[in-house]
Amino acid sequence: MARTATKKVNRIIKKSLPKKTKTLPRGNKAVKKKIVSEPILMQPPRGMRDILPAEQDYWNRVRMVLDKEYPKYGFGRIDIPAVEFANLFVRSIGEGTDVIDKEMYSFLTKGKDKVALRPEMTAGIARAYIQHGMNVLSKPIKLFSIGPVYRYDRPQEGRYREHFQANFDIFGEEDAVLDAQMIQLAHRIMLNLGIKEVQFQINSIGCPSCRKEYLDMLVSYFESKKKKLCKTCKSRLKTNPLRILDCKEDKCVQVSATAPQTVDHLCEGCRNHFKNLLEYLDELELPYAINPQLVRGLDYYTRTVFEIWSVGEEGKRKSLGGGGRYDKLVESLGGEPTPAIGFALGLDRLIMEMKRIKAKSYESPKPRIFIAQLGNLAKKKSLKLFANLEKEGILLAESFGRGSLKSQLRTANKLGVEMTIIIGQKEALDETVIIKNMVTGTQETIPQEKVLNAVKKILKNKPMVIKKRKVTNK
Ligand code: AMP
Repeated sequence: MARTATKKVNRIIKKSLPKKTKTLPRGNKAVKKKIVSEPILMQPPRGMRDILPAEQDYWNRVRMVLDKEYPKYGFGRIDIPAVEFANLFVRSIGEGTDVIDKEMYSFLTKGKDKVALRPEMTAGIARAYIQHGMNVLSKPIKLFSIGPVYRYDRPQEGRYREHFQANFDIFGEEDAVLDAQMIQLAHRIMLNLGIKEVQFQINSIGCPSCRKEYLDMLVSYFESKKKKLCKTCKSRLKTNPLRILDCKEDKCVQVSATAPQTVDHLCEGCRNHFKNLLEYLDELELPYAINPQLVRGLDYYTRTVFEIWSVGEEGKRKSLGGGGRYDKLVESLGGEPTPAIGFALGLDRLIMEMKRIKAKSYESPKPRIFIAQLGNLAKKKSLKLFANLEKEGILLAESFGRGSLKSQLRTANKLGVEMTIIIGQKEALDETVIIKNMVTGTQETIPQEKVLNAVKKILKNKPMVIKKRKVTNK
């Protein structure tokens, strides 16, 4: 049946249905039916994962450090959608890059919009900067963002299809002092996470004017060695010759070792910028190395590019983050000329590294008070008492779902609390509670209105180390 005819039939069917039961057109219905009948796999899509409560102590430490540092350096938080129009990424990151050609999750919406899950954050942040007219604000404009990014890459250890990044961007300043400050901020975050062994890999890839001449030279060099390049690099020669420099294939590494280097072909402005950056980094005594092979994968970079590498584990160097200048990006997207610099930290990798070096995770505060109850009325009173104490900022534990006092006390003991407040049937009627000292085992009955004071008294003292004791029902 022709498409218009199908539409017509669907419209007639829809009209004939009661309002609330209007369904999708037949084609979609068939797809939906097929999806519904497929078995449900009890796992997320490949390369994606759940981060369970047991792992959250590491994530909390990372979030806490980031939340503490970004305001100190004058950044304001921005949250942008995880989905953008696909051409924003294509225009910013560039065709011929792995991210765009191979890794971007792009799809057509029901409204026929071509959209993509963000493969990185900078493009979206530059879009927001232009859209919200941030250029009129006093410069520099510093934006911090955190969230998931998506890349359809081959999953392996430390490489996910959904991973998390913290992104720092500064708009409106060209001075190399900001490049140095960004690197210093990244270093500060590493140190605060307990990651001391890092090295910054630094390079300058110049601006469009000096890069053009350099690229011509690079292409003719690689053309002369074409036979020795891997298959991908042979095609990169046409699409993105700079990327050949950071190919990890042995034969390409060998060819690249004697290739012309960007730093030797910078224009005067770019050369001075790079020289100034290195002087600032020396002044800050940051651990860096110039890496002429470092080009980063994305088209929008100009001048400074850098990566943060973990060091220490022989042969297993990880990139924990990276970034660089993108002085032409805002302009290329239709904004006014705006120099900018940014970097992203890979949170999954930071956590892997923290675990490897046994860095401290965040220790969530442990409750020191437990509420136990026996009987229906007592349960109601306990529920209210919990809410009243929690309102005062007191961290409590309970197991209201349990009926037996013995099992509740066992839980209290397991948690290592110092005090258990018990409300039994008698206490519920008398408006009293039993305060059981879990260290000494002694207990006393007090009126309910005195509970808050008794609790505060306990909390004022230093937390005690509780030895596991035999639980009695008394
Ligand atoms: P990039 O802009 O690609 O250098 O990404 C910034 C940081 O994110 C990298 O240095 C890694 O730490 C991290 N990262 C990049 N891709 C992935 C991935 N597929 N899985 C986990 N982390 C990643």
